[in-house]
Amino acid sequence: MSTPKRFGNIIGGEVVDATETTLNINPSNTDDVVGEFAQASLTDLNAAIAAARSAAPGWAATTLGVRHDILRRAADEVLRRKDELGALLSREEGKTLSEGIGEVTRAGQVLGFFAGECLRTGGELMPSVRAGVSVEVTREPLGVVGVITPWNFPVAIPAWKIAPALAYGNAVVFKPAELVPASAWELVDILQRAGLPTGTLNLVMGSGAVLGQALIEHTDVDAITFTGSVPVGRGIAAACVTGPTMKKMQLEMGGKNPLVILDDADLDTAVECAVNGAYFSTGQRCTASSRLIVTEGIHDRFVEMLCDRLEKLTVDDALKSGTDIGPAVSAEQLKKNLAYIDIGLDEGATLRRGGKRLTREHNGHYLEPALFVDGNNNMRIAREEIFGPVAVVLRARDYDDALAIANDTEFGLSAGICTTSLKYATDFRNHIRSGVAMVNLATAGLDFHVPFGGTRASSYGPREQGRYAVEFYTTVKTSYIAAG
Ligand code: NAP
Ligand code: MG
Repeated sequence: MSTPKRFGNIIGGEVVDATETTLNINPSNTDDVVGEFAQASLTDLNAAIAAARSAAPGWAATTLGVRHDILRRAADEVLRRKDELGALLSREEGKTLSEGIGEVTRAGQVLGFFAGECLRTGGELMPSVRAGVSVEVTREPLGVVGVITPWNFPVAIPAWKIAPALAYGNAVVFKPAELVPASAWELVDILQRAGLPTGTLNLVMGSGAVLGQALIEHTDVDAITFTGSVPVGRGIAAACVTGPTMKKMQLEMGGKNPLVILDDADLDTAVECAVNGAYFSTGQRCTASSRLIVTEGIHDRFVEMLCDRLEKLTVDDALKSGTDIGPAVSAEQLKKNLAYIDIGLDEGATLRRGGKRLTREHNGHYLEPALFVDGNNNMRIAREEIFGPVAVVLRARDYDDALAIANDTEFGLSAGICTTSLKYATDFRNHIRSGVAMVNLATAGLDFHVPFGGTRASSYGPREQGRYAVEFYTTVKTSYIAAG
């Protein structure tokens, strides 16, 4: 085995090596080391925050033309290198190559979108209620934004946080998930070379519990944007409000997303939505539909057809052509998925297919896509986010029953319905308590130019992406002007 390439943190425009490092392991082949990545110390973190702090005023004063050009150049490089970066992403995270390339493409599109969007940050001029006074409402950057991201979208989520942060004039300290530092490193490197001034964007790699926690507690950080699990999100929220500086925060968290399938659904559409939503990307999506809520009349036919379709899926090395589903991201995640198979069986659900560990040419974290039937919505497999290729079918009497089951969850990220009835589709969009509603589409798979986020335990704070991102990454100033 050749010596893996070593990557340092990126602080104040310099690549900074560290005494401690971690190996980035390919989940499709655990003998394959993607690289050796520096672990930032608390001293490194403080240096990164100080660099961002001193860069922030200069960056906020940079002309919009300069900001636009930098983001546009970065977008172009990401898109030009999508095959190479997609392969790197799939190698470190385990989603299939086409999913990896698709995610990189999306990151490029997001960068391009915000290149344009920074030119459109207008304000408002309003009359005052007082004579001789006018009111101007303008948007200003927040200062230093801490970006904390999960492992399941190693480049798209960092891009959709970092691009608007920079577009609206903020400096950034970015801590990616420990499992997937390679895509994060490439993204920061591309943005640096696109012309960002020194210290505007800093990358610190390391553990959430130590480095992430220190980042959220640091008094020189003005805001935190986080995507990850609910327990970590809750802790971040508490730290942001109890700290002396009361940080602005945006939290995007988990889901237990329902896909409702009604008797009048087109069966092929319903099965495709279920396969895509529940199993693609190895079920490791916050928008995955892990609860399949199916009405009586179509239930048995749907389950039969879904099982036939699952039989045909190829679970293998993420980079191999023909692979439909890659491995779990880590041994720990695979263990968690297998534990939920046991939990479902203990709770009395029927494991209709899958759920066994698979061996392939190389040693990886492979799991046969699992489908439970005869479940009910009180079971842990129907209430807790598993984050693996595991779904449970819940039988519903009729539409009203299905909607009630769909809404009976602490989460509210994405939800879908398969039906040919305009009446039910409309009622569902009106009454489902989620941030995203899909009709005859998988619960996952979102456009890059529209808002994204959820309700209840799935999200906290302003929406991400599209024009709505401006709400989080800027603060509003109201100026009153009278003739002197
Ligand atoms: P996680 O364990 O919550 O970690 C997310 C990030 O937070 C990682 O960078 C992690 O560092 C860091 N972190 C952990 N403890 C921290 C602390 N005390 N202070 C500050 N940062 C800390 O989530 P994950 O396992 O990476 O990702 C899976 C979760 O993300 C799922 O719940 C999924 O639903 C959610 N997700 C949500 C969305 C959405 O948009 N709503 C999108 C994708 C994923 P480490 O690298 O050390 O773990
Ligand atoms: Mg984690």
